[in-house]
Amino acid sequence: MIKVFENFDFSRVGQLQSLLESNGIKTFIRNEYCSSVVGELPFVEVVPQLFVLEEKDVEKAKELLQLDMPMEMAGDDWICPECGIDVEGNFSRCWKCGVSRDD
Ligand SMILES: [Zn+2]
Repeated sequence: MIKVFENFDFSRVGQLQSLLESNGIKTFIRNEYCSSVVGELPFVEVVPQLFVLEEKDVEKAKELLQLDMPMEMAGDDWICPECGIDVEGNFSRCWKCGVSRDD
């Protein structure tokens, strides 16, 4: 089993699972029922993770995921123009002053 995607947004993980399944790729989601235990377990234990069952499908799966990835998932860290702080790529707003990345 090979992990190809993980995200706290379970609906997003489920969406990508359907995408892969509809392309004939067998998948598996770990931590599907995480929402009730968030806060009791460390991060890596609870984030929903999408796995591909067969190694031969991994390359294709990653291509499909890439195509489906919205821009904000691209994920390079950025520097807030307002306060100059480093912000992780998965945030679209500065966590300190709230300035939007696109401003
Ligand atoms: Zn800022």
